[in-house]
Parts: sequence; C-alpha cells; structure tokens
Amino acid sequence: MSQFSAQTKAENKSLGFVPTMGALHEGHASLIKASISNCDLTVVSVFVNPTQFNQTSDLESYPRTFESDNQLLEELGVDVMFYPSEAEIYPTKKVVAYDLDGLDQLMEGPNRPGHFNGVVQVVTRLFDIVAPDKAYFGEKDFQQLAILRHMSKKLGYDVKVIGCPTIRESTGLAMSSRNARLSSGDREVSLVIFRVLSLVKEKLKTEGLDNALLLAKREFENHKDVKLEYFELVNPATLQRSRNEDSAIQACVAVWVGDVRLIDNMRVK
Ligand code: AMP
Repeated sequence: MSQFSAQTKAENKSLGFVPTMGALHEGHASLIKASISNCDLTVVSVFVNPTQFNQTSDLESYPRTFESDNQLLEELGVDVMFYPSEAEIYPTKKVVAYDLDGLDQLMEGPNRPGHFNGVVQVVTRLFDIVAPDKAYFGEKDFQQLAILRHMSKKLGYDVKVIGCPTIRESTGLAMSSRNARLSSGDREVSLVIFRVLSLVKEKLKTEGLDNALLLAKREFENHKDVKLEYFELVNPATLQRSRNEDSAIQACVAVWVGDVRLIDNMRVK
C-alpha cells in the first residue's frame, strides 16, 4: 500500500481514500463515487477496527461480507482495496490517548467511552500508510466527521477531509451496515427516527428550541419499541448545545431498536 502511494505521488497523481469497516452499501458507494470522480486513483480500506467498539458482542456480531464487498469495489472501479490485518494496523498494542478538545463531550462521547479515541487512532494510522490527498467520510456519522476534520488539522495531516451527504433508503432510514441486523419489524420501528428528525425541522420554524427538543424526546419515549439514548440539538461546527439564536442547528440522535444501536442526524435549521 505504501509503495503504491509513493508511486502515485511520483507520478503526480491525486489519491482519494475511503476508510470503511466493510459490509458495504450505497452509503459507502456514494463516498467511493465522489472519490473516483475527483481523484486520479482511489483506495478503499476495509478494516473492522476493534479499538472503536465498546462491546465485544457488537464487534463480534458486526457483519463481515468480504466477497460481496470485493465484488462491489470491483464494479465501482476502485483502484486498490486495502484489507489490512490487525497486526499491520496495530503492530504494538499501545493505545494512544488523544485530546479531542471537547468535541466528544456530548452525544456519542459519554455514551461510548473511548470510541472516538479508537476512530482517531485507526484513521491516523491509515492516513500514515495510505498518505491520501483527500479522504471521504459520511455525514451519517456527523460527530465522527467533525472530530476527524479537527484532528486531521490539529495533528498536521496534509489531507483534505471531505464530508458526503447521508444516503437513505426510500423510507427515510439512513443506510448502515448495522441495518442488516434489523428484523422486518425492527425496520418498521426504526422509521420513527427520520419521522422525528423531520418533525423537529418543521417545529423549529414556529416554536423555540426547548419545545422542539421536548417534543422529539416525547415522541421517542412514547414509542414502546424504541429506547432513546440521546437526542441533541447542536451547533454543527462546535458540537456544543444549540441556543435559540443560532443560525445553524444539527439534530443528532441515537436509539436502540432491539439489540441494534442506530444513529442519525439532520440539519434542522
Ligand atoms: P463504516 O463502514 O460504517 O465505518 O462507514 C464508513 C464510511 O461510510 C464513514 O465515513 C461513514 O460515515 C460512511 N457512511 C456510512 N453510512 C453512510 C450513509 N448512509 N450515507 C453516507 N455515508 C455513510
């Protein structure tokens, strides 16, 4: 991988990079298509990163679909599928602790201790190996994108971090590798996420922030098959709680449907 990257640089070609954990779907494909159309060569990594999982059961049950991933990447015309082993990514088991400058205070941060630290560790390791010019991430993982943007700059990487819009199923459900674990009943239940995000967007036009927030939480709490982990209205740049006068507001949510944890977000103002 390093040799390929060095060769690309020597030939003055631009290198696009899409890190993934596999079980690829149209959301991943949209990032890959963006890279292919904007860069001379595109690398996609598939690595299920153990350091970003909080629960061993979640890591173990994470879908692994190497054959179909490989086929999709070939069809899309990706130049390199980078499929490293754990030993290659973590030659020493040392955990590096990053200061995320408060971007992990809300939402995923308190609910998944160590998660973003693991994400930053794997992405910086991958950046070191692949040395891309541009790296593509989904807005689906909104907080992750903000943290990676910030950390890439802070750690001095010469990589342009590019955010791509969330791809949804026709029902509104955001595509996710974890959706594969939803039963058809669970899928029906999970439509509440997009419905409430859209409702909040509407409500914010006429009502204050507190009312919109209250309404959203109530919608989830009244739904017997969904367990709300958090619903927050935040400043999309700082990820701090929104105030009424803010001109931009991002609604971010995490829920459990059965034993599957789903996250989503929407620009509501
Ligand atoms: P993952 O394989 O879940 O780690 O995701 C790899 C990349 O794909 C991340 O940058 C995600 O934010 C992005 N991604 C996942 N789902 C979607 C989606 N529905 N729409 C757009 N990007 C996505």
